[in-house]
Amino acid sequence: MINLIKRTEVLHDILTKDKLEGKTIGFVPTMGALHEGHLKLVEQAKTENDICVVSIFVNPTQFNNQEDLIKYPRTLERDLEILEPLGVDYVFAPGVEEIYPQKDNRIFDFAPLDSVMEGFYRPGHFNGVAQVVSRLFDIINPTRAYFGQKDFQQLAIIKALVREHKYPIDIVSVPIVRDDSGLALSSRNERLSEEQKKTAVAISTQLMKAKRMFEDGKTIPEIKERVIKAINDNEDLEVEYFDIVDGNSLQSIAEARESDYIVACVAVYCGNVRLIDNIILKQ
Ligand code: AMP
Repeated sequence: MINLIKRTEVLHDILTKDKLEGKTIGFVPTMGALHEGHLKLVEQAKTENDICVVSIFVNPTQFNNQEDLIKYPRTLERDLEILEPLGVDYVFAPGVEEIYPQKDNRIFDFAPLDSVMEGFYRPGHFNGVAQVVSRLFDIINPTRAYFGQKDFQQLAIIKALVREHKYPIDIVSVPIVRDDSGLALSSRNERLSEEQKKTAVAISTQLMKAKRMFEDGKTIPEIKERVIKAINDNEDLEVEYFDIVDGNSLQSIAEARESDYIVACVAVYCGNVRLIDNIILKQ
C-alpha cells in the first residue's frame, strides 16, 4: 500500500528521521492529475535518491483566475493508483489548512524574471508558486527537487528562490514529455475535447518550425510573426504571447547573436483552456 500522508507534522517527523539516518530525499511537487510527464520526474527522483516523496496539492495562491482553480482536475484516487507501482515512498496530499495555517502574506521579488511572459499575464502567479514551494521545501527538506522544463519560467524562478534563500537543495530539471502527436503533456489537456487535442498539436508543430527557421537563419521578428500567425490561423487557438528569450534572464532578444542560450516560449488559449509550451533554440 502506498504511504499517503495528509499532515505536515507527520511527514516532517518521518523525513527528519530519514535524513538523520543519512538518507537522501528526492522530492517531486505536483498539483496531481498525473500523467507521463510527472512520472518522468518521479522515476528520476526514485533513481537518484534513497527516499522519493511526491506532493499533490492544488495551490490556491498561484491561481490568478478563480475559474481555472475551480476547474483544475482533481483525481487523487487515480493518482495514487498510478504512483503505487513506481515505488514512491510517501505521497503528501495536504489540505489547504496544512500548507497555509495562516494567510501567507509573503511577497517574493524575482525581478526581472517574474515580470515577463507568465508573470506578466498571470499577475501574482509566481508569488504563489514561491509561497507553496518554499513551504514544501521547509516541510520536506529534500536533497534534490525535480521540476519539468515544460514550465520553463517556473524552473528559472525556483532556481532563483533556492539561490536567494540559500536552500541546500539541488534543483533538477527534466525535459518536456510529449505525446506521439507532439502535444506537451499537461493536466489541463484533460479539459480539451478530442477535436481540440488535435488542434492543439499546432502549438508544438509551430515551435518545431520555429527551431528550423532559427537554424536556417531567419530573423527573430520574422520567426515570431510567422509562428503567431500560423497558430492563430487555427480557429480554436489564440496566442497570448510568443516570445524568444535569453534562457537565463528570460528577457526578449531581438537578434540571435545576443545570447548563447535561447528559448522560444508560448502561451495559447485552446477554447478556454490555457496551454503553455517551449522549445530550446540554442544552448
Ligand atoms: P503541475 O502538476 O502541472 O504543477 O506539474 C508538476 C511538475 O511536473 C512541474 O515541475 C512541471 O513542470 C512538470 N511537468 C508537467 N508537465 C510536464 C511535461 N509534459 N513534461 C515534463 N514535466 C512536466
